[in-house]
Amino acid sequence: MVFYTYVAMDDTDSREGGCTTYLLTRALEICRDSGYSIHFIPGLVRLNPNIPYKTRGNGAVVFCVSRGNTGGLDTFTSGAIGEDLVVSTYSYEKCEEFLDDNDRSLFQKFKRLVDMESSYGHDGTNPGLVVTCDNFGISHYIRAVREVYPLEMAFSTLDEKRNTLYHGLGSMRGLVGCIGALGWCQNYRSMGMDHTYEIISYRKPEFWGKKRDVEPDIVRSLDPELPGTFNNYDFVNDKPLIYPNTPCPVLFGVRGNDYRELSRVRGMLDTEEMERWQIFVSNQGTDDHLVPTPLEEINNYGSVITEGTVQESSFTIKGGHVFLKVADGANSVYAAAFEPTKNFRNIVRALYPGDRVRLYGGVKGDEKEADAPSKGMRPALADGFVKVINLEKLEILQKTTKLTKISNPICPGCKTMMKSIGKGVGYRCRKCHIRSDEEGASYHVFHRVLVEGKTYEVDGVAMRHLSKPLVRIGKENGKKLSEIDFFNN
Ligand code: ATP
Repeated sequence: MVFYTYVAMDDTDSREGGCTTYLLTRALEICRDSGYSIHFIPGLVRLNPNIPYKTRGNGAVVFCVSRGNTGGLDTFTSGAIGEDLVVSTYSYEKCEEFLDDNDRSLFQKFKRLVDMESSYGHDGTNPGLVVTCDNFGISHYIRAVREVYPLEMAFSTLDEKRNTLYHGLGSMRGLVGCIGALGWCQNYRSMGMDHTYEIISYRKPEFWGKKRDVEPDIVRSLDPELPGTFNNYDFVNDKPLIYPNTPCPVLFGVRGNDYRELSRVRGMLDTEEMERWQIFVSNQGTDDHLVPTPLEEINNYGSVITEGTVQESSFTIKGGHVFLKVADGANSVYAAAFEPTKNFRNIVRALYPGDRVRLYGGVKGDEKEADAPSKGMRPALADGFVKVINLEKLEILQKTTKLTKISNPICPGCKTMMKSIGKGVGYRCRKCHIRSDEEGASYHVFHRVLVEGKTYEVDGVAMRHLSKPLVRIGKENGKKLSEIDFFNN
């Protein structure tokens, strides 16, 4: 008989350092030393990327453990802590019925871990910890990945559960992430949802904060050697993407569609000695945050897929950020390709008024009245809420033909050039009085690199954790969140 208990943690790190996934591996040590075994792979769950409280990637962690006899279950290695392997079992489906004294004592140990080793005390770090035998429905995840999840709702959700213990510091906002992560991790597999994996390796403490030894050539070779991996290298900007830029304990992280393939990464990268490594299952690269939304219904802090017609050519403001006005009937929105999206900005710049586009991205409007675009600042709308879609992808639905007139029509009678008789009305020969419509003139047709029906994505350096890279299309490990039939689950 196997009894399952889930553990979730969030908001334990700060901008200055720390790392929630590292704290998870410290929690795995506690489990090992307390006679608990790990079920399947710990989860790294990314939540609403537009939320103002996040410091970096808005990631929460969750894992499933059990006490009791797991001897009959198949196992595999999902990580290592120093010389000790993290052995995971394949089974993980059900929670146990109730928390017992062992679970309570485990909770106390995790509580001490969060109190001692989180970055609490730094601005904006409000840790949360949940130990539970209850199932948190998928709706909690959907809310946490797509909307603003109120903190009060997190408290009432936790208080209603009968077999749940929780702890937090500061405002305890991290509890929101814990609930979202539980809602995903407990249900993604039974609901057949798309998911990915990431292997993260960690540095020895003496290296934390020091420069990482980056190996661009080897990282470039990961793509052909491990075809199920993605976002290893930004070939356009010539930058490896697997090393973080922060002083955190992470040495590298490689993402992929198959966790068995990820195990090979350690043998391929010739790095400094790792202190530990762990494979995670994740909602990264799934587009779970994006919701098809008509342009008039776009709300702040949401992430949308919406359609419209380009109203004006793009303009670039100080800092190299490119803005484009797109409308659908009376409703309009600004699509933004910020400077970090690099070459993707050229796609936005190549759009002309009249082009039909589908926009993918997060909405993070300014609530306050901003300066007008003419002043070289962010655009402003009269009602004070500037709807700006921070573009992640853009699809060209229909391209207009951009023409520049080379010359007026030639009169077929006297072979002289006709004169215009008004804008858009046509031409007439002064001598012969023969008329021609607008099409009679000669035009230069602008050739544009944009391809109708094609989707373009931001450069790898600017890709969000949740964004599905185009290379994953067709390689999904399950259904899109929007395809799930929630009523039958
Ligand atoms: P990481 O560095 O681990 O990638 P982060 O530092 O960017 O993540 P957190 O430290 O997890 O982000 O901080 C994000 C905070 O926002 C957490 O307290 C989390 O609980 C909270 N949060 C996450 N999603 C939502 C949401 N949809 N609504 C409200 N609060 C949220």
